[in-house]
Amino acid sequence: MGYKKPSFIENIAEKIGIIPNLHKEEYQKFDGDMRHFTDEEVAQLYENFPPPSKWDNWVEYNPKVWPRKEKTTYQIVPTTCFNCESACGLTAFINKETQQVVKLEGNPYHPGSRGRNCAKGPATINQITDPDRILYPLKRKGKRGDGEWERVSWDEVLDTISARIRKAIQEGRHNEIAYHVGRPGHEKFMNWILQGWGIDGHNSHTNICSSGARFGYNIWYGYDRPSPDHANAKFILLISAHLESGHYFNPHAQRIIEGKMKGAKLATMDPRLSNTASMSDYWLPTYPGTEAAVLLAMAKIILEENLYNRDYLENWTNWQEYLKAKHSDKEVTFENYIAAMIEEYKDFTPEYAESESGVKAETIVEIARLIGEAGERFASHNWRAAGASNLGGWAVARCLHFLSVLTGAVGAKGGTSPNSWNKFSPTQPNPPKPQKVWNELHFPKEYPLAFFEMSQLLPHFLKEGRGKLDMYFSRVFNPVWTYPDGFTWMEQFMDESKFGMHAALTPTWNETAFYADFVLPMGLASERHDLNSYATHGGTWVAFRQPVLREAARRNGNPVEYTYQANPGEVWEEDEFWIELSWRIDPDGSMGIRKHFESPYRPGEKITIDEYYQYIFERVKGLPEAAKKDGFTGAFAELEYMKKYGAFAIEEGESYKMNEKPLTEEQLKGAEIDDETGVIRKNGKDIGVMVNGKAVVGFPTPSRKNEFYSQTMVDWKWPEYATPTYIKSHIHNDVLDKSKGEYVLVPTFRLPTLIHTRSGNAKWLVEISNRNPIWMHPDDAKKWGFKTGDLVKMNTDIGYFIDKVWVTQSMKPGVVACSHHIGRWRRPQDKIGNRWATNTVKIENDGKGGWKMNTVSGIKPFDSKDKDSKRIFWKDGGVHQNITHAVHPDPISGMHTWHQRVRIEKPGPNEKYGDIFVDTNKSHEIYKEWLAMTRPAPGPDGLRRPLWFKRAFTPDKSPGGPYYIKD
Ligand code: SF4
Repeated sequence: MGYKKPSFIENIAEKIGIIPNLHKEEYQKFDGDMRHFTDEEVAQLYENFPPPSKWDNWVEYNPKVWPRKEKTTYQIVPTTCFNCESACGLTAFINKETQQVVKLEGNPYHPGSRGRNCAKGPATINQITDPDRILYPLKRKGKRGDGEWERVSWDEVLDTISARIRKAIQEGRHNEIAYHVGRPGHEKFMNWILQGWGIDGHNSHTNICSSGARFGYNIWYGYDRPSPDHANAKFILLISAHLESGHYFNPHAQRIIEGKMKGAKLATMDPRLSNTASMSDYWLPTYPGTEAAVLLAMAKIILEENLYNRDYLENWTNWQEYLKAKHSDKEVTFENYIAAMIEEYKDFTPEYAESESGVKAETIVEIARLIGEAGERFASHNWRAAGASNLGGWAVARCLHFLSVLTGAVGAKGGTSPNSWNKFSPTQPNPPKPQKVWNELHFPKEYPLAFFEMSQLLPHFLKEGRGKLDMYFSRVFNPVWTYPDGFTWMEQFMDESKFGMHAALTPTWNETAFYADFVLPMGLASERHDLNSYATHGGTWVAFRQPVLREAARRNGNPVEYTYQANPGEVWEEDEFWIELSWRIDPDGSMGIRKHFESPYRPGEKITIDEYYQYIFERVKGLPEAAKKDGFTGAFAELEYMKKYGAFAIEEGESYKMNEKPLTEEQLKGAEIDDETGVIRKNGKDIGVMVNGKAVVGFPTPSRKNEFYSQTMVDWKWPEYATPTYIKSHIHNDVLDKSKGEYVLVPTFRLPTLIHTRSGNAKWLVEISNRNPIWMHPDDAKKWGFKTGDLVKMNTDIGYFIDKVWVTQSMKPGVVACSHHIGRWRRPQDKIGNRWATNTVKIENDGKGGWKMNTVSGIKPFDSKDKDSKRIFWKDGGVHQNITHAVHPDPISGMHTWHQRVRIEKPGPNEKYGDIFVDTNKSHEIYKEWLAMTRPAPGPDGLRRPLWFKRAFTPDKSPGGPYYIKD
């Protein structure tokens, strides 16, 4: 996007100051541009937003009744959005008269989102007022899955579950308790709870989400997420759709645009012309899974054309180790390092990359040069997308980071930092020690390098008798619908010998909750406490999600003890739920659990929610001073500041190049330096590295540098991947039989207005997006004789689904795609829920692994207290595709590889839209095929996992402890 002549209207608007002057002469200059907004300037742009001094008494007039004057007085309370991980700021407008939340807007005082939201933020109001929401705790009646429920009290829930957990722990069955999270969003809270119970019970959704990319980043530099500094970049490369979806897309999107407005160029790799690709300077429609080949071709050009950052490569990669291990015949010189890399990637010519990916060789060359020229100001991101879709998808992130290393952009201003440098980590009261157990249902021996829990395989592990779960919590988590192979989940959930008791903690009905024993309503964004901090830009912030009606009640002099006393119905929140549960598991403190959940200010008494947060906030750098300056002086000063503003900027722009941070004299006291590597060790731990004669912190890898050469990969039986590599995907063109109609299906993309399974109760969002056809290029459609709207049968490895075709030039020829956020369902016997989005379906099981699903009826208008429910005009609820996918765990990263080989055909005369069939025996066979590709632990020293790899909820690492395989 270059300079665009202003229109007449723009000129006038700029002149009279309605909009900033975007067209002044120096606009074309990259630096010194007037639109490098400071946070204060951004806040000024929101000057029409009510100032905090008026938040307790804000008056607005109803525009609909003009010229009559009808005023409403609001109390405004900040919180954060819960509809994706970004945790953008929200402000709830509470009608003072009715004490009800009426609308939600952005919070200009939130440093990540700066007052802006995507459609999903304000749509929180739909979720709050959804006529079908769950308002009270429910317990199943009759057989599991029959759809019969009765209301119970929170006391009954807590007593029943705590007794079960207490018994399991007392009998040493720690590994039979598991907490499985879909949408997290609370910094370290569950570590505190689960490690307080002494269990290895955390399971996450990360292996169907982001662990592929995490592995690729981690193997380089010990951090598992990138934090691109888009606003200061000169060139941005996205292997994702960050202008429209993903984490942390709204905060990232606004900074990508800010970077573009200052002259940055944007390139997007995606086989689909996403909204992001359409806003880019370069769209690179790579054939799925070939992204790494393109990136390595770019790396080769940067090396050959001397566009690399010599200083960075020399000081911050482990090149000496690489030469010694792979080129022992050569002298260890920097020149030999560069020559060896050029030799290593000699086959990755632009022409080869074009033949693999379909992207033109000259475009690859052009972009490689622009990246080289951008140097340190090269920002990039791979999150899900290719990293989450392909066998070896982790290699995409690894090759992308290679470009950051070559240009010296790692941690630089305008470059790409590790996520942890821009993220706050709380200090909690009475922290528990790491657990002494290892749960192989989450981290089995076959996947020693898996970056997160092998959650997608849990039902297969249970099916083949590897264990059972006596108490299972699903938390805002819906594997029956979101995961591949949902019918296998269903089979296992129905079996009480596998799942002894299942409590679904959820704000809304979902397909998994239908198979639970307890359904426990948990709060939405404005109904719960959480702590958030995310790497949205080159700065660090902390935000406070709070139950806004509770806070309003406090301000009005009517405080409540528990959040459910202020929320609609008896909707609760996890924080208080877990603290209460922990006390009931260990009522007299004899199990050593209760002590972690006692007040740090009132010894021996139960911690309150205010005390928990005050303890954290009073330890946030700069917050005590800010609270004092704002006039808060009492025992809860910092908490009150956060309750007032909802967020706090800890630092802005100080966290670049943190690897160069010098070690202090105190840190160096008693430390030893390894003569060969320069690594500095103290008390058996690596604490830094010598670089150019200075002792600095470095990166948390064995070499304390970026590891171009990974001895870890060699030690853990994958020597062929010791350096950044292109791995051919399981859906590579070579393995597809085009004569049989085989295609690759891209099932990973999200429509910008949807949330995985929580937009079903947000009417505005469903109104915008309510079907998920198969995207097909006109050339492919012509070949098949398809028109838009025709039925197509998509045969997967374990079954099929029948969808409709959408013919569009936005799809790469030879590839088809289907959004994964639509196709919600409920059975006739289920509690009514999410009627804006769900089809009613019939499910049949032949008892031999064959499962059929047919749509009985689509979406219809319905009667409710919300008049809009009668105005529903859409009928099509889409098709549930994920349930027809087999599990495909990458043997190294453990990431589910989402892309599917599908065989396209025209449906038979009796086959209808929405028909689904799956054979779960076949899916178990495919699980075994992929399992056979692994290279199991132990690794060196009998380890289950490299000690330097991070692990969620890390167990005790002492020799002989759970990290070591005993037999
Ligand atoms: S990006 Fe949208 S959904 Fe995500 S937190 Fe921000 S407003 Fe909410």
